[in-house]
Amino acid sequence: MKPIFLFFMKEDVAIMIGPHFIRPISRWPFFAFMGGAMFCLLASSTCHLLSCHSRRLAYIMLRLDYAGIAALIATSFYPPVYYSFMCHPFFCNLYLSFITILGVATIAFSLLPVFQNPEFRTIRACLFFGMGASGVIPVFHKLILFWHQPEALHTTGYEILMGLFYGLGALVYATRVPERWMPGKFDIAGHSHQLFHVLVVAGAYTHYHAGLLYLKWRDQQGC
Ligand SMILES: [Zn+2]
Repeated sequence: MKPIFLFFMKEDVAIMIGPHFIRPISRWPFFAFMGGAMFCLLASSTCHLLSCHSRRLAYIMLRLDYAGIAALIATSFYPPVYYSFMCHPFFCNLYLSFITILGVATIAFSLLPVFQNPEFRTIRACLFFGMGASGVIPVFHKLILFWHQPEALHTTGYEILMGLFYGLGALVYATRVPERWMPGKFDIAGHSHQLFHVLVVAGAYTHYHAGLLYLKWRDQQGC
């Protein structure tokens, strides 16, 4: 058995050299992202499983699909914003509030029947694209604050890749490529909605790896 005084000495030294080293880094932003991604994929699966049932159910399910994607994009902001700015509470709260409000607005826009008319299609896509694109601001801010730390550059690489996947997904969704070029040829496989979902999964998977890197970064360095 170790002498008890050694335990207390260790505690004292830890407090002296840096209280953040012994304070566990909060995990909720990472789990919020995981929850958002799981909700999105579950909503998509339910949508595509049940939408062939009836016109009425297809109408409801498609809304749920959009809401799931909006939730995924919004919660994708939580780990990078929280772990980048955890020592700058003002910016942390500002960015988190902004994306939460934009996410709720996009979900509302996706769910309200009045916005389902075809003329709102581009606006819907722009809202999704805008949510993703607004991520550029906290990423730039992170680079300014931590440009000398390799973790900041490494996570930015993942974020650029994720942005490309999400951006391409929104573009494919809005332009209905490739079926617009050869109508009828992609009815079973390869149409825009399928490509869109594959790109969303690729973006979420990339972001999952970025999230793990953020956790490692903060666990090692604290604030
Ligand atoms: Zn879908």
